[in-house]
Amino acid sequence: MPTGEPHQHIPCNDVLVAIGQENAFPWIERDVGIEFDRWGMPKVDPKTMQSSLPNVFFGGDAAFGPKNIIWAVAHGHEAAISIDKLCHGEDVNDRPPPGVTLVSQKMGIHEWSYDNDISNDQRYKVPLRDISVALKDIRTEVELGYDDKLAYLEAERCLNCDIQTVFNGKLCIECDACVDICPMDCITFTENGDEEDLRTRLSAPAINLTQDLYIGNSLKTGRIMAKDEDVCLHCGLCAERCPTGAWDMQKFLFEMTQAGPACRSR
Ligand code: SF4
Ligand code: SF4
Repeated sequence: MPTGEPHQHIPCNDVLVAIGQENAFPWIERDVGIEFDRWGMPKVDPKTMQSSLPNVFFGGDAAFGPKNIIWAVAHGHEAAISIDKLCHGEDVNDRPPPGVTLVSQKMGIHEWSYDNDISNDQRYKVPLRDISVALKDIRTEVELGYDDKLAYLEAERCLNCDIQTVFNGKLCIECDACVDICPMDCITFTENGDEEDLRTRLSAPAINLTQDLYIGNSLKTGRIMAKDEDVCLHCGLCAERCPTGAWDMQKFLFEMTQAGPACRSR
């Protein structure tokens, strides 16, 4: 991509061109100690990113095939932690815990420090350059990107998944006001039971079996609060309606520990 800046020349012996099209490792000798699977991909530990040769690590598409850039960056961080620990004589399988915090977003009775309005808009298409122009010149960028207005509308579709509904059963008086107002019917107060049975007794059956139910206990009647996290819009209406403050909307911050002194156990 021309930037208008002068070219830079970097002397080197070999250049490996990585264009993200296909994984191919014919240039790694098969007797160096790295095991490959039947598709010619290196065998990589998904937790440590370590190959069967302890001082060689893989990440990104080279580790598990095509994924996106977010995965590649995450792999890079995990591999960096492993390399740091290996260099300091530590067990690479002993992973450092992440930093996590939950902070209330309440600013007033009906006010939150995040935008809790729900948008029902469908996804906005990214505008494309006219095909008659795009087909004439291979260097023409086809995707034009959002303008300010479209970008704003698309951002408004955010479901605020970083804002959690936090329930305190000791404060709950089981008035059912949150159940009434929830637009997704995802809150149920009921008798406890096995998960399989419980799922059939919820206001709206929690059909995504891979998603855990959120259970709150400590209720005075001995019942439980069961919530289907899969369909929650994080709109905060339950917390606005609750007369006792048993619901709160709290921002969840997850911070990975990165390579360096903090990732070591000593
Ligand atoms: S945040 Fe909204 S959708 Fe989620 S449980 Fe509360 S009222 Fe229901
Ligand atoms: S609105 Fe509050 S007090 Fe009433 S049932 Fe829901 S959590 Fe409990």
